[in-house]
Amino acid sequence: MASTQHGKPKRPAEPSNAHAGNPWIGVRFTCARAYVRVYRKPEAPVYLARCPKCGQCVRFRVGAGGTSARFFEVSC
Ligand SMILES: [Zn+2]
Repeated sequence: MASTQHGKPKRPAEPSNAHAGNPWIGVRFTCARAYVRVYRKPEAPVYLARCPKCGQCVRFRVGAGGTSARFFEVSC
């Protein structure tokens, strides 16, 4: 007989993506030494990133009229 295994069933490493389809950029805040993935709502013209340490908000305009870069570094 097969032994019964306790515990949760195995899942892929990827968490369920609630932001599926939303564009995102990667922002590294040097003062917090933190890397943050910033999502943008489809209707929002810019990405709004917030430093987890000092709380400074940085806006990134991406796409038409902006940069096509996906990763940024902020020193605040
Ligand atoms: Zn900061």
